[in-house]
Amino acid sequence: MSAEPGIEPAASGRPNGAVQRRGLMLVLSSPSGAGKTTLSRLLLERDSHLSMSVSVTTRPKRPGEVEGRDYHFITPERYRALVAGDGLLEHARVFDHYYGTPRAAVEGALQDGRDVLFDIDWQGTQQLAARARDDLVAVFILPPSAAELERRLHTRAQDSADVIARRMARAADEMSHWAEYDYVIVNHAVEASLASLEAILRAERLRRERQIGLFEFVAGLQAGA
Ligand code: 5GP
Repeated sequence: MSAEPGIEPAASGRPNGAVQRRGLMLVLSSPSGAGKTTLSRLLLERDSHLSMSVSVTTRPKRPGEVEGRDYHFITPERYRALVAGDGLLEHARVFDHYYGTPRAAVEGALQDGRDVLFDIDWQGTQQLAARARDDLVAVFILPPSAAELERRLHTRAQDSADVIARRMARAADEMSHWAEYDYVIVNHAVEASLASLEAILRAERLRRERQIGLFEFVAGLQAGA
């Protein structure tokens, strides 16, 4: 993606040195199996201004998952200490486990004009909206059909039949929150959904209120500077 006025992060500095941008929080939520993990990975690969918020969780590590990349795997005691110390930007119980977003990494990134991608559920999204609505861009990913959702859940070999059945039940609950999101993408095809996500990100980066220093920049233009 080529550089364009107004979409450079604050830290990189633009040629005119004036218009910089505060980072945004791009949240992707969906029922399990709608393709969100694949979309997140591809978006991160293609967009160097975006980094993933790595959550903490008390659930056990699945085969193939890497500490510090997929999650920070922590004990319930550590989790309780983080909550008590206000170290999490949002936190929620999902299934039988606890999840949360470490605050410091996100706040630092936003201040530096870097965008942060979140894979969190509707509970976490509501908390981010309550705390920082102006920084939030919330996208809900829907599967193309119930049959496809079930098929995708069954091809996920990592989970037991019991877990799959409970995920199907929870999918309905998660999906009931779709209308709380700014954007909704029906994931018929990965490439098209990815293009939609990139379009959302591109437009949201250009929002007037995210561009720091515009008043001064325009004043300079008007003064013939
Ligand atoms: P999984 O255990 O399959 O990785 O994730 C289960 C659910 O927890 C997913 O819907 C995921 O979006 C959500 N989740 C993961 N991390 C967080 C977090 O930090 N906060 C919240 N609220 N939800 C999370």
